[in-house]
Amino acid sequence: MILTKGPLLHTPLWQQELARAVTCRRELLRRLGLPPPEDPEHSPEEGFPLRVPESFISRMEPGNPRDPLLLQVLPQEQERLSPPGYHTDPVGDGEALAAPGLLHKYHGRVLLVAGRSCALHCRFCFRRHFPYREAAPHSDRWDAALEYIAADPTISEVILSGGDPLTLSDGRLARLAAGLDSIPHLRRIRIHSRLPVVLPSRVSDPLLEWLGRTRLQPVVVIHANHPNEIDGEVGQALRRLAAAGIMLLNQTVLLRGINDRAETLAALSETLWQARVAPYYLHLLDRVQGAAHFATGASRARALHRRMRDMLPGYLIPRLVRERAGAPAKLAL
Ligand SMILES: *Cc1c(COP(=O)(O)O)cnc(C)c1O
Ligand code: SF4
Repeated sequence: MILTKGPLLHTPLWQQELARAVTCRRELLRRLGLPPPEDPEHSPEEGFPLRVPESFISRMEPGNPRDPLLLQVLPQEQERLSPPGYHTDPVGDGEALAAPGLLHKYHGRVLLVAGRSCALHCRFCFRRHFPYREAAPHSDRWDAALEYIAADPTISEVILSGGDPLTLSDGRLARLAAGLDSIPHLRRIRIHSRLPVVLPSRVSDPLLEWLGRTRLQPVVVIHANHPNEIDGEVGQALRRLAAAGIMLLNQTVLLRGINDRAETLAALSETLWQARVAPYYLHLLDRVQGAAHFATGASRARALHRRMRDMLPGYLIPRLVRERAGAPAKLAL
């Protein structure tokens, strides 16, 4: 018998799956039985390449060019448009940097840009132009951020965001959590991640171990936009997190042509609840350059939200919000 040697043997499954993510438009379309891009040389990606793991592709419908999961990741020609009112930093992140990688916008909570990359690239991402290289520290250099948090007793919650914080290894995350643990005025650690949905193998034993070890109350906010994203395997991963005592919430971005129907949003709430996830926010799209074709107007959003209230119990209704640079909280619509 020949044993495979080398690093792969010790690399967790989720990291192997991440490394094999599809990054080529032609390849993605081929797998779905769709015709190749008309002009493969002429790519609309503009420095934010296509990226999608196999597991997410497996939930797309073959032969459907309007599949709601495909449309979230496939670069489109419209990304080149830059209508007025769309910016590279739509939510004022640049102004809110309190320490390297640390955003302090709202009372009581800070956001740590922990992950510098994502498992999949959402074409509507409001941080698609974020200067991770300059604004987020390398690997374990959290000292300045931790010092800032320790010096401000009004902070009770740290939000790990990114990029996607769960693209970091569990070793690194465990060290970061231990650092936060030792700051006495902190009460909660919140993780915003698309990984439990995009790559359910990320919900692994080592993740549950360090999350279970911290004295901070853990909250995980997943980002799911369409009920088709939640298949059996994802449901299982989410129920595992819930069973470990982790509070699970979901936030959704309202996306034209993807989830802008009340029936779709209601089905999303129902599906998530079955997996122990409560709805949190329904966000109006942040006006980031390259994503204008996903925008839904505020009045249409309100009408959709009203229809959801006619269809669902109150606890399955997310709060409809938008973010405005410089505001003291997300604004309710
Ligand atoms: C959205 C956001 C938060 C969290 O806001 P909540 O209303 O508590 O979910 C915190 N900090 C920053 C910088 C944010 O953008
Ligand atoms: S997971 Fe979030 S940060 Fe990452 S590309 Fe998608 S929207 Fe952007």
